[in-house]
Amino acid sequence: MDVTLLGTGAADGWPNPWCPCASCADNRRLGLVRANTSALVDDRLLLDAGADMNRAAAHAGRDLTQVTTVCITHAHDDHCHPSFLLHRAWLDSPPPPLRVIGPAPVIASCREWLEPGDESVTFVQVTAGDVVEVDGYRITALPATHEAFGEAVLYAISDGSSSLLYATDTGPWAPGVREGLAGWQLDLVMLEETFGEVPSKSPHHHDLATFGAALADLRAWGNVHPTTRCVAIHLGHHNPPLARLQGLLAAIDAEVYPDGTALHVGSRKTV
Ligand SMILES: [Zn+2]
Ligand SMILES: [Zn+2]
Repeated sequence: MDVTLLGTGAADGWPNPWCPCASCADNRRLGLVRANTSALVDDRLLLDAGADMNRAAAHAGRDLTQVTTVCITHAHDDHCHPSFLLHRAWLDSPPPPLRVIGPAPVIASCREWLEPGDESVTFVQVTAGDVVEVDGYRITALPATHEAFGEAVLYAISDGSSSLLYATDTGPWAPGVREGLAGWQLDLVMLEETFGEVPSKSPHHHDLATFGAALADLRAWGNVHPTTRCVAIHLGHHNPPLARLQGLLAAIDAEVYPDGTALHVGSRKTV
């Protein structure tokens, strides 16, 4: 699988334009802009569709014209901004079929944005534990330690030869994640790391310490091995400036990349 990190930022993005802190100032100085977290898999599978998504795709030099399936984790607007359904309806020709996968609050929110008469969109409501097979992908919904007007989920995705875990937003693994990942040998883990060296202000997000513990869990469970690429996403401005963050992550065999980075899953060497 080829994965493009469309966005790697927390809800407020990083830098937060309202914030004078050193971390935000450093990102401004370096021109490092992190939009709402979202990823594009093989140009066909979109993971999360938050408020920043259209511009994030454009800045990455990508389009979404080949996307057949959108997997949305939860109904917070940095992950689910259903206006994208309307934007598709403004094409010159009828939009191609699209499948939207998500927990109940996501589906309810997206339905409200569908143009009357638009029959191009199919909704697939999932709850943690469900497995959906679409377009050659096996998509497993896992429980998140998070909630947004109801259920939030994470996604484990396999194309039969490589696999990834997309885990945002969440705190320490919810009961059921270990069982849901039994037998998975992951090539890529995208795991949220919202708070950096500041102790997490919420049980629903990770700081660097709990992020490291969550990766250690995956290693202990046999899901993450030495060739697994572990990438921090959903980065907020409580994180330290980039050079320090890179060092702290490297010490726990994890990485951080700018928005727009394309990763070939199954190889640590090709970026
Ligand atoms: Zn979020
Ligand atoms: Zn959230």
